[in-house]
Amino acid sequence: MSNNEQKRLVVLGAAESGVGAAVLGKKQGWKVFVSDYGTIREEYRQILENENISFEQGKHTWEQIAKADCVVKSPGISEQTSIMKKIREANLEVCSEIEFGFRYKGDSKIIAITGSNGKSTTTALTCHILREAGYDVAMVGNIGYSFARQIAVQPAKWYVMEISSFQLDDIHVFRPDVAVLLNITPDHLDRYNYQFENYIAAKFRIAAMQYQADCFVVNMDDPVIMQYLDEYKPKSKTIFFSTMNNKEPLEEGGFIENDEMHIRYGSDVLNMSIHELSIKGKHNQYNSMAAGISARVAGIRKEKIRESMSTFDGLEHRLEYVATIRGVDFINDSKATNINSVWFALECMTKPVILILGGVDKGNDYNEIMELVKEKVKGIVCLGVDNKPIHTAFQEVIPNMADTQSMKDAVYAAYAMAEKGDVVLLSPACASFDLFKNYEDRGQKFKEAVREL
Ligand code: ADP
Repeated sequence: MSNNEQKRLVVLGAAESGVGAAVLGKKQGWKVFVSDYGTIREEYRQILENENISFEQGKHTWEQIAKADCVVKSPGISEQTSIMKKIREANLEVCSEIEFGFRYKGDSKIIAITGSNGKSTTTALTCHILREAGYDVAMVGNIGYSFARQIAVQPAKWYVMEISSFQLDDIHVFRPDVAVLLNITPDHLDRYNYQFENYIAAKFRIAAMQYQADCFVVNMDDPVIMQYLDEYKPKSKTIFFSTMNNKEPLEEGGFIENDEMHIRYGSDVLNMSIHELSIKGKHNQYNSMAAGISARVAGIRKEKIRESMSTFDGLEHRLEYVATIRGVDFINDSKATNINSVWFALECMTKPVILILGGVDKGNDYNEIMELVKEKVKGIVCLGVDNKPIHTAFQEVIPNMADTQSMKDAVYAAYAMAEKGDVVLLSPACASFDLFKNYEDRGQKFKEAVREL
């Protein structure tokens, strides 16, 4: 029996993280209470019932919550909610789900990946490399189980974790053996008092608790990371990667020279042509280097890494090739919900582009893609309830614009604008919830509409 048996755990939010923490807490002897202000999804309600965990939905009962020895807050819950304000006022201990999971991870090792873009891809690739090398590895975070749930139901020796900034908000001891910071561009600022600095600070927390023997793998080409690195430099060893042709190649880390990727770690150098990488585009060179370095640090041989990097399938909805119809390629990049990811999508296009843009704009500055749009885009199809910001931004440079409110119409309009040899790219720069359930739904509808052509 653990000495936690009398302690009370309150979990706010009953989705993947919250239910994961609740199940793990129960298993570790806590008295658990789950509170969700909305409606709990059927699959999660079932788990709570099966595990005999008490819960409420549609309300937060303060009398229950106030008794907590520890509150696990789901990443979706903002500090601005009245329940969080009350919890802070009462000075209750708050931790995030990954922090709670960390207490029970035993001697397993963690590779934790964060950034504004590329987290899922890099997490999946890193996991693929470790798995192919025969490691006992679990991929946790946004893809698959939450960290806490994985520990509760099927612990592994290695965890490759995708971590969003919200999960880093309440960590105190969480310490990855390898932390990866891919890039920092403005996103989710509504949750950070519209202060970019707060979001940057959250991202750097991924490495804050690291020891000297740990590694912090960072993108040297990212101006924000480099600007703030001195301020937030952790105790661990920093390992850089860069796609620029460095005049002086890095003694340790990843870099690219004449289309060759080099990863130096220890006495070994992994060399690989970028054309051998299974996922294409400059952004994926960053992701591949980050994954490759992490895998080297985890002790995997360079030959194995090289092989896995050329066989990785890539993820759905990220620059996913769909079909070619009468010479027009269709690419689904529905996951591109901010400007930076659209920049990278356009950057790797080699044919004239008809771009499908739009949805819920999180405060985009379209000037960031203006040069690439001028160079590569011949038509824009707006797909959203409010398309005004897109018109304002591009009407002078792109005369060929259409407005649509359904995926089917958008795909038809794009196809009508396209000629043989063009590419239709869905890379919306916006969130999807004005017309779709989520980005997956948007991507699925795109693929269906393309197939119907
Ligand atoms: P995340 O999990 O951080 O949202 P994903 O791997 O799901 O990242 O990719 C999200 C979007 O960003 C996709 O459109 C993808 O093509 C693009 N992307 C992937 N990696 C990067 C990167 N390193 N930099 C910029 N954009 C990227």
